[in-house]
Amino acid sequence: MTISVDEYFRVQKKSTRKKEPRYIAVINKNSCTSCNSCATVCPVDCIYEVPGVLPSESYHQIDTTRCIGCQLCYRVPSESTDYYQLVVCPWNAIDMLYNPAQKSTPTVLEPYYRGEPQEEMPWDEIEEFGYALYLNEELRVRPHDEIRQKVMDFFTSPVWARNGEEPFRICDPQFEEHDGYRLYRATPEGLQLLIEVFEGYPKVFMD
Ligand code: SF4
Ligand code: SF4
Repeated sequence: MTISVDEYFRVQKKSTRKKEPRYIAVINKNSCTSCNSCATVCPVDCIYEVPGVLPSESYHQIDTTRCIGCQLCYRVPSESTDYYQLVVCPWNAIDMLYNPAQKSTPTVLEPYYRGEPQEEMPWDEIEEFGYALYLNEELRVRPHDEIRQKVMDFFTSPVWARNGEEPFRICDPQFEEHDGYRLYRATPEGLQLLIEVFEGYPKVFMD
């Protein structure tokens, strides 16, 4: 699911919802065959096709700023209790993810921060990008992307630790330049922390 999640993290459009849902749906474009089953059930019509040059290259994506987290594209609770019959997508390409804009739940990396307390820590972004880093073990950041660069400043500083440990960096401060991106990689200690925090992540359900 890494590609669609990465795009979801990269797009970062502002939501117009009055109330943030606890979960939002995302599509793994590598698994999606563009069959359109999910789009036909979405009550807010926020699932759209991204056409490819060839039909086989088309896939669907979700406008996560409009998704209301109803799960109708994810499962059909009224039809059966059998998991395999509950799934709407024949390719199991849809996941429901914790919505980082939902403020009532504390972010999961916060207890591991050992740096100076700052008034405006971008915890929501730190959680989102930490999750992307957990999935991909690397993050691509455009130099002019101020929010991501700010998160990278935290990830590349030795301000993270479990209880009793020396603080360490989540990402190696050395980055590679590729096609206008800076490519940051997780450090072994940082990756171990992310695995601890996000493996079995209770806010992300499904396989
Ligand atoms: S969870 Fe609901 S609103 Fe969101 S994409 Fe799926 S069907 Fe649409
Ligand atoms: S139901 Fe699955 S395969 Fe079909 S368009 Fe939606 S995500 Fe793609």
